[in-house]
Amino acid sequence: MSEKRLQAAISTLKESGVRITPQRHAVLEYLLNAMVHPTADDIYKALEGKFPNMSVATVYNNLRVLREIGLVRELTYGDSSSRFDCNTSDHYHIICDSCGKIVDFHYPPLDEVESLAEQVTGFEVSHHRMEVYGKCEDCQKTATQKH
Ligand SMILES: [Zn+2]
Ligand SMILES: [Zn+2]
Repeated sequence: MSEKRLQAAISTLKESGVRITPQRHAVLEYLLNAMVHPTADDIYKALEGKFPNMSVATVYNNLRVLREIGLVRELTYGDSSSRFDCNTSDHYHIICDSCGKIVDFHYPPLDEVESLAEQVTGFEVSHHRMEVYGKCEDCQKTATQKH
């Protein structure tokens, strides 16, 4: 499954005329296999053993290229650490208050919210973001173990 997605992503890169460097390939592969939403730092830490010459800046640079051609989505949360998501289909996120983990879930896109917002405010709506917060299963377990 992820091998197929990797091949599809690589052909998108080729079609966009983006050079596929070994590092870019590795960043993409990591993102596709990591079903989490890593930060650039997470990706850097995971790959630095394989690419000792790679810097965090290189990782950012690669992520920017992948974002520009639409293979990766950047999620900003008002702090310095953007999360990167290679699931570019419509989906929503639930975020753990304790450990910060972000998990995908599917829900019919809330198109009505967009059209209502447009009508009420006169904005031209581009997109919306909805996040649900709570405590993940792992953190629930750790909490009960402590008691
Ligand atoms: Zn958690
Ligand atoms: Zn996601």
